Order: sequence, then C-alpha cells, then structure tokens
Amino acid sequence: SLPPFDYSPSQYAGPTADEILAKRRAYLSPSIMHFYKNPVNIVEGRKQYLFDEEGRRYVDAFGGIATVCCGHCHPDVVEAIVNQTKKLQHSTVLYLNHAITDFAQALASKLPGRLKVVFFTNSGTEANELAILIAKLYTGCHDIISLRNAYHGNAAGTMGATAMSSWKFNVVQSGVHHAVNPDPYRGIFGADGEKYARDVQDIINFGTSGNVAAFISEAIEGVGGIIELAPGYLPAVYNTIKKAGGLCIADEVQAGFGRTGSHFWGFEAHNVVPDIVTMAKGIGNGIPLGAVVTTPEIAEVLTRRSYFNTFGGNPVCTAAGLAVLKVIEKEKLQQNAFVVGSYLKERLTALKDKYELIGDVRGRGLMLGVELVTDRAKKTPANAEILHVMEQMKELGVLIGKGGYYGNVFRITPPLCFTKEDADFVADAMDLTLSRM
Ligand code: PMP
Repeated sequence: SLPPFDYSPSQYAGPTADEILAKRRAYLSPSIMHFYKNPVNIVEGRKQYLFDEEGRRYVDAFGGIATVCCGHCHPDVVEAIVNQTKKLQHSTVLYLNHAITDFAQALASKLPGRLKVVFFTNSGTEANELAILIAKLYTGCHDIISLRNAYHGNAAGTMGATAMSSWKFNVVQSGVHHAVNPDPYRGIFGADGEKYARDVQDIINFGTSGNVAAFISEAIEGVGGIIELAPGYLPAVYNTIKKAGGLCIADEVQAGFGRTGSHFWGFEAHNVVPDIVTMAKGIGNGIPLGAVVTTPEIAEVLTRRSYFNTFGGNPVCTAAGLAVLKVIEKEKLQQNAFVVGSYLKERLTALKDKYELIGDVRGRGLMLGVELVTDRAKKTPANAEILHVMEQMKELGVLIGKGGYYGNVFRITPPLCFTKEDADFVADAMDLTLSRM
C-alpha cells in the first residue's frame, strides 16, 4: 500500500475527466500527447504525491518532467509566490527590483569559476536559443555541435540542436552537426568516452572550416532516455572544442538543481567547467522560468544590439526561484536525491536480474532510467510492453515517465523529497506488474 501521508485533498467539484478530455480534443492542439488510455485528471498535488478527481493518491515518479524539485505546492515556494504577487506581479527589468537581482546573485553563487552573469528566460528552449546565439556572436562562427539523441528545445535553433527525428520537423535547420552519442548501452564504443570524443574532432575536421561556435550537451540525456554520457567524454570534447575556438554549453535543464544527487549540476560529475550553463524546469519548481549563466566577457556580446524579453526575470518567477534554492539547501534535497536515488537504483537493478524484459538500469540520483527490451542480445525495444507496464503501474498508484529514441525507457524523475518508502512503492509496483506479464 501507499506510504502513509497525512493530507486530505479538498472535495473536487469540477468537471469530470471525460468532460475535460472532450474539451481538450476540441480546443487544445491535437499534438498534445497523453501516456494513458484513460488520462488521469490531476486536481491537486502535495509533496511527491498527486491526487485525482476522486481523491485517489498517486506517487509522482515523473515530477512534472523533472521539474517539481521541492515537491508540489511547497509552502515556502507558495508563500514566496503569493507575497510577491501581492506586491508587484510584473513591471519590467527596465526598472530595478530586488526580487530579480537577489535571485541572480543566489544563482550565480551556485556556479563555479567566472560563471556569474545571469540572463533570465521563460523556458529551457529560450535559454538554449540564447546560449546558441551568444556562442555564435562571441566566436563569429556558425557551426554548432550537439549529440545525437539530445533534446534542447523546440524553437528554430534548438530544434536544430535536438537530434531525434520524432522531435524534428522538416524545416531548414542549418549549421548543426550531430556527433555520435556516447551512450554506454547502445553506443558503438561502449563506455569508452575518449573514443566517442574523436567523432567531434572528425566533425570539426571534415564538416567545418576548422572553427566552431559551440558544443552543447546535457550531462544526462533526459528526453533521450536517461543516458549518462560515457566517462571521459566531456573533458576530451571540451578540450577539442576549446582548440577549435568554440564555447562549451551545458544544458542543465533536467540534470540541474541537485537532481543527480552527487552534485548540484550534472556537468560537475564530469570535472568540466562550461562557458555557458542553461537551466529551466527545477529552477522554479514548476513556475515558468529559465536562465542562461555565463562569464562577464562572453555576456558582453549581447550589448552590441538590443536584447530583451518581456517576461524573463519576472519578479514572481524569480521570487519562486529564490525560495527553491533555499528549500533545496534547508531540506538537503540534493543529499536526499543521492541517498534515495542510490537506493531506488539498487532496487531497480535487482529487478533487472529478475526480469529479462529489463535491458538496462541507469542514471544518477533521482534521474533514473529503466530500458525495456524484448530481446536482451538484440536490444529490441519493448514498445507495447512499456505501455502495458505504465498502465498497470498507474492502476497501482504510480505515475511514471517514458522516453528514449525508441520510446521504451522509463524515466524516473520525481520530486527530490522522495522517500525510501516511495522508492519501495515504485519498485514494488514495477515488480508486481512485471511478475504478471
Ligand atoms: N533542454 C532539456 C535537456 C530539456 O529536457 C528540455 C525540456 N524537456 C528543454 C531543454 C526545453 O525546455 P522547455 O520545455 O522548458 O522549453
């Protein structure tokens, strides 16, 4: 049974799931997907739990796609948002307001070296668009290198850098080269990071004039299926890129804010210091906010023209961001992600020994992946099976994510306040479902 939780959701008097679904079909873009045959109507959230219209509780193992780091409706974050909303909901960064500068300072203090200049955006896509623009301006080059299997966003530049056909439309996306993914499970060089890194040098040698604007990558690919870059890869590639005059961009949209447990930022586990760091998702615990952080020298390039957006650095969002940083620290959420994530990974790895269907268990902290395959030797994606397991886990009270190029990888990215009991509940639900197949 679900871990005990002393909270009763309020009586729901809104429309039913069927009514909402009908409206969604009529008025929302048909592109919006849903994982379940009968989508759940989520009406309330507290900590690591979500409640449906009947007051039924679910363990949220997806965390709003690695976004709700402090837990749903964390009282400190809610209070910060409410207080700021009452004082000043919006003006513009053309005027001064300390909600914005206080958060910029606190954020900069979490980054190493000379990464001290913050530019706020509204999303991860915008943050990466800006990072790519800055790199092009700073270097005077056009070529961007990203990894096959990466997800960086869905605007013109970031869709180009994203490298999965299912996320790309057939429009012109020039100047991007996609390097061989250093994927220890499916990649051609196994876990040998330095071998994969040679592909980046090859791209520079054979596909560019010898200079590049930037290399951009996640530390753990999220949408791509929770793939940890092979060890040794990032330091080697960062060296190569520096020699080619380019900047290194770390996309921390999913892996940042303590999610990986061992470090606050995903790149730190690879012993590299990027030139530009982009972030979103966890930064506001669900409030739309993103940021680009870089050095004063690099940030200077934006002064050549006007560069500005209306909402980036909205005081309500930055007040939320400051509260998030304080909660992560006060409640030791990064440390918790390490302890609970390591425990859950052990439990999932034990399931891999028990069930042939599990081909791989990977990830760090509370950013874990479980890849399902129908044939371990051939690594055949288990697409029908993953949908079935997902449905069954929902029935048992677990909402879990899914992704990967083949769509056959469970993504476990819960709020960082997840407990060992929650971890057991998720692992038990998966165990029970797999035992019935
Ligand atoms: N980068 C990464 C690593 C992401 O996972 C995402 C979102 N899934 C983005 C960028 C884009 O962020 P957003 O959806 O906020 O535009």
